[in-house]
Amino acid sequence: MIKQFLLYLSTAGWARSIVTNWGIARRMARRFVAGEQLEEAIQATKTLNERGILVTLDYLGESVTNAKDTEDVVAMYQLVLDRIHQHQLQSGISVKLTHLGLDLSEELCVTNLRHILSRAKQYGIPVTIDMESTAYTDTTLRIYRTMRDEYDFDNVGTVIQAYLYRSESDMVALANENAHIRLCKGAYLEPADRAFPNKADVDKNYVKLLETYLGTPGSAYLCIATHDENMIHAAEQYIAARNVPQSRYEFQMLYGVRGERQGELAKKHKMRVYVPFGEAWYPYFMRRLAERPANMWFFIRSFVGT
Ligand SMILES: Cc1cc2nc3c(=O)[nH]c(=O)nc-3n(C[C@H](O)[C@H](O)[C@H](O)COP(=O)(O)OP(=O)(O)OC[C@H]3O[C@@H](n4cnc5c(N)ncnc54)[C@H](O)[C@@H]3O)c2cc1C
Repeated sequence: MIKQFLLYLSTAGWARSIVTNWGIARRMARRFVAGEQLEEAIQATKTLNERGILVTLDYLGESVTNAKDTEDVVAMYQLVLDRIHQHQLQSGISVKLTHLGLDLSEELCVTNLRHILSRAKQYGIPVTIDMESTAYTDTTLRIYRTMRDEYDFDNVGTVIQAYLYRSESDMVALANENAHIRLCKGAYLEPADRAFPNKADVDKNYVKLLETYLGTPGSAYLCIATHDENMIHAAEQYIAARNVPQSRYEFQMLYGVRGERQGELAKKHKMRVYVPFGEAWYPYFMRRLAERPANMWFFIRSFVGT
């Protein structure tokens, strides 16, 4: 119930203006966001790299409704790529298609994505297309496949959400295409006719998809994106039992969540952390609150105390 309410708030304009003007929320968001400026994210990336952890940098923003704004998003991502290259950072980038104008037009979004992919390809920097709500699943997969084929670039990947019923057939198809896929549970508010309503079913499906994907012969690459110890344990067991090589997978977590565990996993596997930065942190922050009631209660206590 609380989770659903927070996910609703994450898309509500009225709540955004209240929360973003509130100092405590801004300070708390800093736990999950490297900073509002690119240089802060670069510093966070350097620190993680020094601990043997790879990074994917995300310039925060989504649901952009003004074409001019998408030009700034492209320019920022190009700058991010330049910085990664210049500092020789072990980092890729993650992009959201609605940040690149998908709500305005698919053509604009793809043009913007091409500007980013061209520069990423020039430097050999991996790009992941994040997955948003089910309003965008088909389009995201279509754009991902077009870009991957057009750029003939192994390092273009996308995301599959284990909470969706459709994900099993998507994963089978993508494994046979040797795709580069991040598997996560899913972070959006979805109706029960599209997504498993119960966590136990999502978890079961996560393990099933992971095993199906890693069990498919070929070179499909899986990013195991989760903080859930049960999922990590299931993945490690499967990897050890089947001798899955490091060239087929990596683990991923979010910036600010289970930092110590990130370091431990980095000693045994490839480990990547998703590092968001920028001023548009509100929806991202609300999704992180929705994932963990303990974060939420801390937030409410701070609110009542002010
Ligand atoms: C690298 C990465 C990229 C992602 N990209 C996408 C994407 O493109 N699209 C999408 O829909 N979702 C994405 N997600 C979010 C994902 O779908 C989940 O919402 C999120 O990871 C929580 O699921 P979980 O697997 O950690 O398990 P959960 O069952 O939610 O959590 C398991 C345990 O992990 C810990 N934990 C989880 N979240 C938090 C938190 N916020 N703060 C503190 N502890 C926490 C808690 O101990 C919790 O009990 C991404 C997640 C990661 C790690």
